[in-house]
Amino acid sequence: MRILVLNSGSSSQKACLYEISGAPPKNPPPYLWQAKIEWSDSGADVRIGAGHAVRFQQRVSSGSRKEITEKVLGDLWKGSPALVPGPSAIDVVGHRIVHGGEKFSAPAVVTPEVKDAIRRASEFAPLHNPAGLEGIEIIEQILGSVPQVAVFDTGFHRHIPEAAATYPGPHEWLSRGIRRYGFHGINHQYCSERAAEMLGREEKSLKLVTCHLGNGCSLAAIRGGRSIDTTMGFTPLDGLMMGTRSGSIDPGIVTYLMRQDRLDAKAIDDLLNKESGLAGISGISNDMREIVSALKQGNARAKLAFDIFIHRLVSLIGSMFAVLGGADALVFTAGIGENSADVRAATCAHFEFVGLKLDSAKNSKPSADGDLSAPASRVRTLVIHAEEDWSIARSCCEMLS
Ligand code: ADP
Repeated sequence: MRILVLNSGSSSQKACLYEISGAPPKNPPPYLWQAKIEWSDSGADVRIGAGHAVRFQQRVSSGSRKEITEKVLGDLWKGSPALVPGPSAIDVVGHRIVHGGEKFSAPAVVTPEVKDAIRRASEFAPLHNPAGLEGIEIIEQILGSVPQVAVFDTGFHRHIPEAAATYPGPHEWLSRGIRRYGFHGINHQYCSERAAEMLGREEKSLKLVTCHLGNGCSLAAIRGGRSIDTTMGFTPLDGLMMGTRSGSIDPGIVTYLMRQDRLDAKAIDDLLNKESGLAGISGISNDMREIVSALKQGNARAKLAFDIFIHRLVSLIGSMFAVLGGADALVFTAGIGENSADVRAATCAHFEFVGLKLDSAKNSKPSADGDLSAPASRVRTLVIHAEEDWSIARSCCEMLS
């Protein structure tokens, strides 16, 4: 079975191809092919690879998502060597869709009704859902009636209890869809399944706090394989401090800035999404590697950025522990979670009171998916490599079987 996975971001387009025979393996197989297009003001960077080899790399000066993506996908059957005999050799296409609105808690085969629902949820994710829809339509044009599956980043959190999902504003917000949706659900769900496997336990019996720490950061409290609380909310701006996003702030700051600086919605959006977080505080970078390196050279603003990041992470992990009534494991995943021993060490040091103890040697050199706990630790600490593409591919297999 050949499964193509598309991740259509606001200013990027990623695609990858898996080829599997029989039932999907438990562990992610390597990509057969992958591609990434990143748009900037001056054009787009295109990179296509297969295995460790680069097949194509170029900066193109202009081109819409449709134009460039069609060319990039054509590499599969027109490139040298061709990797598949033709477009009809693709069996199914999976899409990461950021917002499933109130409708979707599980992946869905794409139909006109599903496309309408994704379009309706665009009002909540105006940068992301239209890109996802465009991805679906590009595939319709190139691959005709190939089955397509939409997998939603909000789906895993769709059934968090009402008290966790509802903002304490006016009750009518609920009927307008203003509620906590949560994001990164594809990876939080994958981490829950993978953690159960790594711990040799039934997922149903586990309580987990998963920390997705990448450019965007969020936590999930997971009981028995179901999300019961999460830190992102109505939008992916809520919760933890992130690379360029503020995370939760007093909403009074927004009205203050509107009054004092006469900022409009777009200016506030830019301020909180693009000029805040690690980048806003440090004035150096949104990248945790650069923050840690600057703080080690004595940069005070980098230190402040790191300290706020850890403070907020610790306080929200604490709240997830409380919601769950304790946890069996704390899971770190995504760019920072998988790679920053400093972030894991500084965070875990706060949780010795719940019996969590890191093995510092394992923490400084974890294997791809590993248990970093000291033998006596009552709460395990795991690192799990984020596998969103593979999760989407597996959902495709399940939907078609
Ligand atoms: P996205 O959320 O866009 O999928 P990633 O999960 O790849 O992003 O995370 C990207 C972030 O991971 C980078 O911005 C950087 O802050 C962080 N990161 C990557 N490698 C390291 C590292 N070795 N040490 C610390 N942080 C890292």
